[in-house]
Amino acid sequence: MDKEVGYTVIAENDESQWQDQTGAVYHFPKRYLGMLTPGTRVVYYKGRIKDKQYAVKRLSDQPHYFGIATIGQVYQDKSSSKGDHFALIENYQIFKTAVLAKTDAGYYETIPENRQSNYWRDGVRAISQQDYDAIIAAAQFAPVNTPATPRVQPDNETDEESLVSGVEGQMRMKYVPFYERNPKLKEQAKQIHGTTCCICDFNFGEFYGEYGEGFIHIHHLVPISEGEGQEKTVNPATDLVPVCPNCHSIIHRKKNRTLSIAEMKAMIAAQRR
Ligand SMILES: [Zn+2]
Ligand SMILES: [Zn+2]
Repeated sequence: MDKEVGYTVIAENDESQWQDQTGAVYHFPKRYLGMLTPGTRVVYYKGRIKDKQYAVKRLSDQPHYFGIATIGQVYQDKSSSKGDHFALIENYQIFKTAVLAKTDAGYYETIPENRQSNYWRDGVRAISQQDYDAIIAAAQFAPVNTPATPRVQPDNETDEESLVSGVEGQMRMKYVPFYERNPKLKEQAKQIHGTTCCICDFNFGEFYGEYGEGFIHIHHLVPISEGEGQEKTVNPATDLVPVCPNCHSIIHRKKNRTLSIAEMKAMIAAQRR
């Protein structure tokens, strides 16, 4: 049985409690679960600008659409007491210029009769395929691999590449650019697994307070072999884990051998006995 593809507009706030990473992760309240199932096509939307300092990060000050994507796996946000969820975002494509929500002919989104007064208040809005197609038709897509695609900020706070070993030198070369090219995967892994070391339970936020909050290395369980486009096959849920820099250093200490998580845990347990 074919499942019908859904179409949804997802609003992104300039200032978010969740620090969503555009094109990587989207957080939302539980009530929108039914609208954001895996495979749903989404259009990114921003409302009218509230704080001018964000003008440089937006395609327009007016309410507008700025990109499309597909909803990937959806997870419950363990750090939320309200049952919030987040979705992994796949195939993000940013527009070259803003598609304004309102044109001379009216709005792209068909507003139901009974929702006239409060329609725009919802951050997630199901739309018809017709409305979706109309927005797409008005959009010009930025070339893939422009710096803006995706707009995930690379995590330049770590010297992680110095910690990634490989079986041989050649492999190492393949490794180095991995996270630089894939801040999206790193962000998704942090959202899914949290930021506590999966080996020794160290958490930077707990130890250092706010300054350390959210800091963690991401270790790749299965070494990437070679070739372009390999990152597409990396599943952040099963292939990536959070590790503290201490544990990460030991995992990769020997160039010819990468320790497993189980081996690391066994080593620590042996010391504590
Ligand atoms: Zn650790
Ligand atoms: Zn690693």
